[in-house]
Amino acid sequence: MTTRRSGQQAGVAVGGRGGRHSRRKSYKGQWFAVTALAVVGTVVVAHPDVAHRASLAAEVVAGANESVSTAPVVETPSVTPKPVVTPTQKFTTPLRPAPTLTRQPKNAKPNVLVSTGKLAVVPGFNKASGVRDKLTYRVEIEQGLSVNGAAVAAAIHKTLTDPRGWQALHPVSFERTDTVNADLRIILATPALTDKLCLPLDTGGEVSCRVEDRVVLNAKRWMYGIPSYNGNVELYRSYLVNHEVGHALGHGHSTCAKPKTPAPVMMQQTKGLAGCLPNAWPTIKAT
Ligand SMILES: [Zn+2]
Repeated sequence: MTTRRSGQQAGVAVGGRGGRHSRRKSYKGQWFAVTALAVVGTVVVAHPDVAHRASLAAEVVAGANESVSTAPVVETPSVTPKPVVTPTQKFTTPLRPAPTLTRQPKNAKPNVLVSTGKLAVVPGFNKASGVRDKLTYRVEIEQGLSVNGAAVAAAIHKTLTDPRGWQALHPVSFERTDTVNADLRIILATPALTDKLCLPLDTGGEVSCRVEDRVVLNAKRWMYGIPSYNGNVELYRSYLVNHEVGHALGHGHSTCAKPKTPAPVMMQQTKGLAGCLPNAWPTIKAT
């Protein structure tokens, strides 16, 4: 409620924390009788001291925080009415038609955590670029993730067929398919689904894995990488693919043998580089 003394605003309080302070002030004064009635955000204040301003004996204040000095001016009928419609229109009329929201706003946070548990195969085919033993793989993405399936599949194929990749070291040629009989499933999933698909391995909501014919890439890592890659998410994604597919090709883990040299691709780089430098390519250092 609002109380005032000789036309000055003493304070504004409708419930909340500011109430006690304002009330204490008004009791000290005791200059006027103040009747206040508050009903769900609407305050009615009667001011006998301003009885000479007959039209202002009572006012209804919605929100109860208007300046007291300006409120009467608006209510006085003798004042020439101001064209209040113009400024209102100025603020409510949009400069251009409101866009229809058919897609997520540009600055919306991408979803990597909310799990639907449903996988969808990315349709399409990328022919093997090598002539040696063909290994087919299928890309599957958990529905609801904020990723472009075609772009993910393209990035994976680019990594697998890169001259610095496994094809240079193994008699293997990667070919992407969308059929059920693929040799390998490369799955991009939320941390929750990653943990399920990786059992009995423990991925702890943070890391990725390879189990049987499944390479499961944690979408949280795919989206954000790791700090030691200094924002080079594209390079980290290549590491992720090469590391997990490396397991499928029979490679185990290795460690950083010499600091300040490229980390082996089969090192668990996501858990730390131990002084080595980020490296995604098995031809640079596989194990
Ligand atoms: Zn591993």
